[in-house]
Amino acid sequence: MDNCLFCKIGAHEIPATLLFEDEKTLAFRDINPVAPTHILLIPKIHIENILGLDNTTALAMHSALQKIVAQENLEKGFRVVTNVGDMGGQTVFHLHWHILGGRHMGWPPG
Ligand code: AMP
Ligand code: ZN
Repeated sequence: MDNCLFCKIGAHEIPATLLFEDEKTLAFRDINPVAPTHILLIPKIHIENILGLDNTTALAMHSALQKIVAQENLEKGFRVVTNVGDMGGQTVFHLHWHILGGRHMGWPPG
């Protein structure tokens, strides 16, 4: 999609600190981390938020998540967050899963 930041990162048109890539997904470090480990996992195709996520891409996202958790040594614990819409705190309208870890995450979130 034109003028979508994460489409451009997914297509390697804008640089990011890449951590994982396969045919359907890409993961990179959040530019403004809120935890010692803060990774964004995106589908390469443009999907606005999780409500538009199709089964094939969902499976690819989940498979990528499992690999990233092993790669980044997050087995002791982590959090996955996906913000949806203005009220949900979404600011980039291309689906992304925040993978947060490296400290005790606490509950409820602030
Ligand atoms: P959200 O508010 O859930 O839409 O999350 C968007 C996230 O994208 C925020 O945590 C930002 O820090 C992050 N972000 C924005 N621009 C970039 C970028 N160029 N590279 C990496 N992360 C980014
Ligand atoms: Zn996009």
